[in-house]
Amino acid sequence: MRFFADSMLGKLAKWLRILGCDTAFAPTIPDDEIADRALREGRIILTRDTLLIRRRSVRENHFFVRGDSYRDQLRQVVTRFAIDPAAGLFTRCVRCNEPLEKIGRQDAAGKVPPYVFGTQESFHACARCGRIYWKATHREEMERHLGRILGP
Ligand SMILES: [Zn+2]
Repeated sequence: MRFFADSMLGKLAKWLRILGCDTAFAPTIPDDEIADRALREGRIILTRDTLLIRRRSVRENHFFVRGDSYRDQLRQVVTRFAIDPAAGLFTRCVRCNEPLEKIGRQDAAGKVPPYVFGTQESFHACARCGRIYWKATHREEMERHLGRILGP
């Protein structure tokens, strides 16, 4: 399942990426380009924009998200597309949507804080931006937060 979130849905895009869903988000590109790219890349457009959905190429290729709260929006998308929140959790770069790759511990040396290096066993990296991810407290907080949004 691949998505393209419109410019109003940045927070939703971020949380879909946390769930591991391939979600494009490009707030500065014009609507017709979003429509084209979504078709070309086989993405369903997630939108709150009633003008955008009138376009012919979007009419049959969108999911209209309701409400201003990203929590409600996330719940709608997860339900509608039967996304298993546990399946892809923390497998994608939140910043650039790239799938994360496991890297050797030695490859993380010097690139993460010494305390993190000393206490963490495994590291993942984004090939595009180079950001290194590891299991940390904020991840557990995110899991709890997701549990509150989506239920157990
Ligand atoms: Zn990245």
